[in-house]
Amino acid sequence: MTQHDAVPSWKRETSLVHGGRDTRLTDATGTPTICPIYASTTYLHESAEALDSAFSGSTSTGEPAFVYARQANPNGEALEDTVARAEGGVGAVAFGSGMAAIHAALLAAGLAVPGTKIVASQDIYGPTTGLLRKVFEPVGVEVVMADLCCGDAAAIIHKEQPDVVFVETISNPLVKLVDLESISAAAHEVGAVTIVDSTFTTPYLVRPIEHGFDLVVHSATKYMSGHGDSTGGITISAKNTLVAQLRVYSMLLGAILSPFESHLMLRGLRTLSLRMERHCSNALQVARFLRKHEAVEHVYYPGLTDHPQHALATRLLDHEQYGGLLSFDLKEQTRESTFRFIDKLRLCLPATTLGDVFSLVSYPAMSSHRTLTQVERQQIGITEGCVRLSVGIEHIEDILQDLDQALR
Ligand SMILES: *Cc1c(COP(=O)(O)O)cnc(C)c1O
Repeated sequence: MTQHDAVPSWKRETSLVHGGRDTRLTDATGTPTICPIYASTTYLHESAEALDSAFSGSTSTGEPAFVYARQANPNGEALEDTVARAEGGVGAVAFGSGMAAIHAALLAAGLAVPGTKIVASQDIYGPTTGLLRKVFEPVGVEVVMADLCCGDAAAIIHKEQPDVVFVETISNPLVKLVDLESISAAAHEVGAVTIVDSTFTTPYLVRPIEHGFDLVVHSATKYMSGHGDSTGGITISAKNTLVAQLRVYSMLLGAILSPFESHLMLRGLRTLSLRMERHCSNALQVARFLRKHEAVEHVYYPGLTDHPQHALATRLLDHEQYGGLLSFDLKEQTRESTFRFIDKLRLCLPATTLGDVFSLVSYPAMSSHRTLTQVERQQIGITEGCVRLSVGIEHIEDILQDLDQALR
């Protein structure tokens, strides 16, 4: 199991660059600087006694020991160790996708028991709502979706008395924030376990455990990997008991991340700080540019001083940076004109993801909020002219030029 123990007190940026250093095996012929990809499904040990010890997860001298890749492997462990440290957790477990990480987090938080109740933010990722409705509700979990972004979240939690509270740091696509501190305080007053999906913010911008959260989940497919070439998820916890639970679910559900993907994720993390810095500074410039554009009605970005939650965002997020995601409404709010705009883009790719090095454009009415009717979308503030941008790390002038020519 990944524990973050005696490590130098490096800054987060440095730890991310050097992540996994302690996991590579040393060798008299030369020690690789990077943990190799361990494709092996099983591990041999010196004696039956050593194997017996390895089954418990460590050697007789307390070093991590591996037996079978579905249980744990060096690449997964290197990744888990690096992310746990970056988030300030006691441990982390990597999963085959963000959804698997969320599933295990919900189970570990207590929803494996029928009759339990969860309050989740109504603005969360669609498939997470689907998971609650289609997997947990049928086995007797009570699911309450509520406005935890703008409503009085603490009052809602006190009234509902849930066992689990689930939120996202920043919502899709309207980039609304939640007040992590007041939510975790209220949840703990009623004895609820708190989970936050921090995919949009990454530990570069905020570490929810510092704000009292019990479990943090990421779709590592997004910013952590960052290059659009690997799918994975990770759940971090502030409590050893929860980490142990996550490990059990990972093993029994067979949800472990493969060694190859773990390697790619760790590779991505080495440049996370640099990429986030650029994503954030580019996004702020794009938001300012779009706000002045005559073809744009409204821009949603917490870095703009007139965003209703700008003060909360400034308090919560580090470096006075506000993330790489923003949305905007075209003046002409029809599907036809939005399609025309998307088809005219040359640099920004219309791909169904976010957090990659490339700038990506998505149309919520067609993708994330497809199953809602136009009226339902309107009720939550998503117009037919709403476009979400995941601003990449390209040169800002190329991004602005591409948006400008397509808007014209
Ligand atoms: C993409 C995403 C997920 C799901 O992650 P996968 O890796 O696709 O399973 C969960 N939450 C958020 C906020 C996401 O953007």
